[in-house]
Amino acid sequence: MCRPLPIVFIELLSKDPILSVAVNVPLSHCFDYLPPATGPCPAPGCRVLVPFGRRRETGLVMAVSSDSSVRRGKLKAAEALLDEKPLLSETELALIRFTSDYYHHPIGEVAAASLPTLLRRGGALFPVVTMTAVTAAGSATDLDVLTKRAPKQAALMGLLIDAGSNGVDADTLTEMMPGWRRVSSTLREKGYIEQFEARAEPRETVIEIETEPGPTLNGDQRNAVDAVNAKPGFGAFLLDGVTGSGKTEVYLELIQGVLREGRQTLLLVPEIGLTPQLTGRLRRRLGVEPALLHSGLTDLERLSGWREARSGRAKLVVGTRSAVFAPLPELGLVVVDEEHDASLKQQEGLRYSARDLAIVRASRAQVPVILGSATPTLEVLRHCEEGSYQRLELPRRAGGAEPPSLRIVDISRSQLDEGLSDTLIDAIDRHLNADGQALLFLNRRGFAPTLICTACGNVCECRRCDARMTLHAEIGRLRCHHCGAERVPDEHCDECGSPLKPLGAGTQRIEDVLKRHFPDRRVLRVDSDSTRLKGSMDEALSAAALGEADILVGTQMLSKGHHFPKLTLVGVINADQGLFGTDFRSDERMAQSIVQVAGRAGREQMRGEVLVQTAFPQHPFWPLLVGESYHGVAVRALAERAATGWPPYSRLAVIRAAAHRREDAHAFLDRARRRIAALRLDAVRALGPVDASMARKAGRYRAQLLLQSADRAALHSLLRQLRPELEADRAGRKVRWSIDVDPLDLF
Ligand code: ADP
Ligand code: ZN
Ligand code: ZN
Repeated sequence: MCRPLPIVFIELLSKDPILSVAVNVPLSHCFDYLPPATGPCPAPGCRVLVPFGRRRETGLVMAVSSDSSVRRGKLKAAEALLDEKPLLSETELALIRFTSDYYHHPIGEVAAASLPTLLRRGGALFPVVTMTAVTAAGSATDLDVLTKRAPKQAALMGLLIDAGSNGVDADTLTEMMPGWRRVSSTLREKGYIEQFEARAEPRETVIEIETEPGPTLNGDQRNAVDAVNAKPGFGAFLLDGVTGSGKTEVYLELIQGVLREGRQTLLLVPEIGLTPQLTGRLRRRLGVEPALLHSGLTDLERLSGWREARSGRAKLVVGTRSAVFAPLPELGLVVVDEEHDASLKQQEGLRYSARDLAIVRASRAQVPVILGSATPTLEVLRHCEEGSYQRLELPRRAGGAEPPSLRIVDISRSQLDEGLSDTLIDAIDRHLNADGQALLFLNRRGFAPTLICTACGNVCECRRCDARMTLHAEIGRLRCHHCGAERVPDEHCDECGSPLKPLGAGTQRIEDVLKRHFPDRRVLRVDSDSTRLKGSMDEALSAAALGEADILVGTQMLSKGHHFPKLTLVGVINADQGLFGTDFRSDERMAQSIVQVAGRAGREQMRGEVLVQTAFPQHPFWPLLVGESYHGVAVRALAERAATGWPPYSRLAVIRAAAHRREDAHAFLDRARRRIAALRLDAVRALGPVDASMARKAGRYRAQLLLQSADRAALHSLLRQLRPELEADRAGRKVRWSIDVDPLDLF
């Protein structure tokens, strides 16, 4: 297309191609550009550098066409082509388009979100990086001597000696040893280390990984595998298996089949699921090195994983939600583990569900997608009822371990010691004496410890948010979990001057009580505070798995996917707030978190016991959960949703607005509501605007307008017409607004 044209054809220049470019700005459409003045014409999937207003932006060519709605004379030319060959194929570009349409989100932002950070910023696919390596002189130094004189230098030398002569890039060094640059100059002057530029290379062919065989599949597992294999092309399957039923073994068997065909598998896991435990198991069992894509990696590492996926060399790509956008030319299978997990939905910016996009992807690639969970969402269960997804059940634990017994502990009349009942304390004692391990689970949502006035009940609130501050006894400070503000707590109430005292169970205070009751036992607390340091979470979890702690205390993090062989007792300390939640998903959520954490108990020989403390033992939720486990609750909740018309029996979207002044946020949504009314789409109901449940966050007032419809097409048609009008709303510039399609949380 870009061959030089003979002069006579000059007037036919109108046939010259026009690039439709997705630029990372909050506007719905692509922008048209002429190709760069020199060089080859960019193909779709290549990045270009384009002039944008007074700036220069990296954009992604989405399409090349022959016409534009803008007059040619007014079109600017792209300044440079950044990729010789397209980074993304038509398949991935189509996924970007779909995501932008479905979530009503600016296409340039979707394109940006789908690329690794370094590429988004215009970097090369194989960037040149500065490597640091030991010299011969460096290798010959006596590390012990250096350690005594200059321990930091010795630490860096140690790292580099381990890495060998290829050296380590700066990013990775910063990751391993944050202050390395300070000592590196001294070492360079001494001639112990050297620095050089190197181009990132494709990963070397992997050394043989010694594989180990897995267990022979049981009948249920076999049936599940056969059912998937029996269906050619696309099929969506729910692998509905109780915790420990061997879902992972089913994935492994299916992945092995895909490996034999030389094709790729995409395995999506929740944020927390990507433990070394899982990657180690995949590597040993499959004999391939999984390419990893998650937020715990450096930018270079993520780029490398992405490259491996794109080249088709990585046969297994394991990642958290954004991995759903990874280019996979040989895709053969998609697996979404723990499909119920909220972290599969991005809750800010581009608010997408990785699970739902995974299904779209599989369907377009005509390959099977497996959704695994012990506590499937009602959305997925409903699809199974309708027959659009096939449900495969693993009702028993593999290897014959019995399911844990679940018991309700009535705490309505008991005296509690910092939230712990005598029944629970006795049970802990019993299990520890029988050489078991105990886990105490604290549902943190909305129940963080704070300071309360003993006289007037005044609670310490954040000055910028409508939220209580959380007490962190360890550092002696109050912290707001919504905006991060911190302050030293007052001793006396600022309303009435009476003394303040801690309220609510926190992991720290439970840890203290446990240490008092069980002074000879090792108590390990695992929550976002105790594991703030990178890697410390993994360490804590492996320590727990190895039985190096007797009692584990923690929040949601502890409830997911981990395998603690010695764990026999689970105590759920504060189950009640879920019973009276305001969200229509409260029941479902609470049953999920209890069943998931209960699933940690008794996964090997010893039978597990689960005690759930509640002050409302008469609540109808309990007999369902105790008698029929998760599915009892799910069946009733589905019937309720059918009766009330909430999802999955309708579709939702939320328009959120935040502004420094409450009136501005509301006025914006009022205008949105009037525009919606003018569109006269009777199938869509608009509710609100109302204040968000935490109306003020980090100094901004937040409000929302809820849209509900039983007709998905009508809802989307409305949003499609509304979005450009909202973008054009000049008075809305003071407002930060967003559209959330299929929202998880209605606050
Ligand atoms: P899930 O993913 O459902 O939680 P896993 O696949 O991790 O379950 O299996 C739980 C435990 O049972 C693991 O230790 C696994 O090795 C074992 N297991 C799974 N399938 C079998 C089987 N068919 N025979 C024996 N043990 C099995
Ligand atoms: Zn007071
Ligand atoms: Zn705050």
